[in-house]
Amino acid sequence: MINGEKIVDQPIRWAMIGGGRGSQIGYIHRSAALRDANFELVAGAFDVDPERGKDFGINCHVDPDRCYPDYKTLIEEEAKRPDGVQAVSIATPNFTHFEIAKAALEAGLHVYCEKPLCFTTEEAEELEALVKKTGKVMFISYGYCGHQMIEQARQMIARGDLGKIRIVNMQFAHGAHNVAVEKKSGSTAWRVDPKKAGPAYVLGDVGTHMVYLSEAMMPDMNIKRLMCSKQSFVEGRQLEDNAMTIMEYDNGAVGYIWSSCVNAGSEFGARFRIVGEKASIAWDVEHPNQLAYEVQGKPQSVMQRGAGYLYPEAVADDRIGGGHPEGLFESWSNLYTRFAKAIDKNEKGEEIDFWYPDIHAGVLGVKWVEKCAQSGDQGGAWIDF
Ligand code: NAD
Repeated sequence: MINGEKIVDQPIRWAMIGGGRGSQIGYIHRSAALRDANFELVAGAFDVDPERGKDFGINCHVDPDRCYPDYKTLIEEEAKRPDGVQAVSIATPNFTHFEIAKAALEAGLHVYCEKPLCFTTEEAEELEALVKKTGKVMFISYGYCGHQMIEQARQMIARGDLGKIRIVNMQFAHGAHNVAVEKKSGSTAWRVDPKKAGPAYVLGDVGTHMVYLSEAMMPDMNIKRLMCSKQSFVEGRQLEDNAMTIMEYDNGAVGYIWSSCVNAGSEFGARFRIVGEKASIAWDVEHPNQLAYEVQGKPQSVMQRGAGYLYPEAVADDRIGGGHPEGLFESWSNLYTRFAKAIDKNEKGEEIDFWYPDIHAGVLGVKWVEKCAQSGDQGGAWIDF
C-alpha cells in the first residue's frame, strides 16, 4: 500500500520541458510527480513561448531564475549548479521528443518522456542505445498501465487463470475529432500535421497506449506480423483519423486494435477483452476500478480494485482501500512512484527489480506505428514485425 511515506532519501530535483499553461497533459505530470513528495519541481522550460513559460513557472513556485526560455538553456544552466536537476519530464508535441530526450540523456539526466517516443524505429533505437550507454532511467508515459487492475490482469495471465491466450481485442476509439476541430484547437492542429505528429495520428496518439497495455499484461507474447487498414474521414487531414490493425503473435494468438478519433458519440472508448482458452478478462479505462472475469460455464464476476482477493502485486499499489474510486491520477502517481524508485536504485547502483514502461516500450510503440503506416499505405498488406 502506498501511504506517502518517503521512498527516496531526498526529493528528486525535477524539471519539466513543455506541459505549460493550456497544455493538455502538463498538469497530470505535475500532480502525479509531486503527489508523494518523491520529486520537487525546481526548474522548467514549460512553454514554446518563453515569457508565458516563465510566468507559468513562477505561478508553480519555481525560482524565476530557473524558468528557462528553452530546453537547451535549461540543460546547460542546470549542469552548472551543484543542486542542478536530476530528472526531466518531456511533455511537448511529438516532433520535439527525440532531440530533447537525446540532449537530456547525454547530459546525464533521467528522463520521463511522452509517447510516442519519436518518429522512426531508427531514432528510437538510437535512444535505446543511449539509455544503455548512459545507464540512466528512461520512462515512457503510458499512463494507463499504472492502474491496479492492469497489474491484476498481468498477474492473472502469468498465473494461467485464463489459460493460454487466444485473442487480444482492444480499442481506443473516441469521437472528439469527428469534425475538423484542428481549425480551432492548437493541441489538435499539431496532431494532424505529419511534420509535427510523425507518420501517423491516431495510431500514435491513442493506438500506442493499447499496444503497451498488451505488452504490460502479456510481456511474453511478441507480435509476429500485422496488417492495418487506415482512413482519413475528415476532409483535409493528411494523417489517418481511424485505423484498424490485426496482429498475429508468436504464441498463435491473434490481436486487434481499433484506433480512432472519429467514433462519434464515444466519450473515450478505450477498453479491452483478453480471451484465454478457459476464461476472459475485460477492462474499460472509464471504469478502471473494475475488471470483469468471466470463466466459461460459470457466472460472470467483476473484480474490484482494493479487494483482498486480488493478487498482492496489484494491492501493493493501493492507496485508499476498496470502495472509494481511484482513477487516472492514481495510475500516473503509481508510475511516478516507480520512476522515483528506479532513479533511487539506479543512483545507488542497485538492480531495478520491478517492471515499468521503459525504453523498450518506447521502441515498441514507434515500431508498431511505423509498421501499421507501412501496411496501411500498401492497402492493408501483412507486414513482418
Ligand atoms: P499541447 O499542445 O496541449 O501542449 C504542448 C505544451 O508543450 C505547450 O505548453 C507548449 O507551449 C509546450 N511546448 C511546445 N514546444 C515546446 C518546446 N520546444 N519547448 C518547451 N515547451 C514546448 O500538447 P499535449 O496534448 O499536452 O501533448 C504533449 C505530449 O503529450 C504529446 O507527445 C502527446 O502525444 C502526449 N500526450 C500523452 C498523453 C498520455 O496519456 N500519456 C495524453 C495527452 C498527450
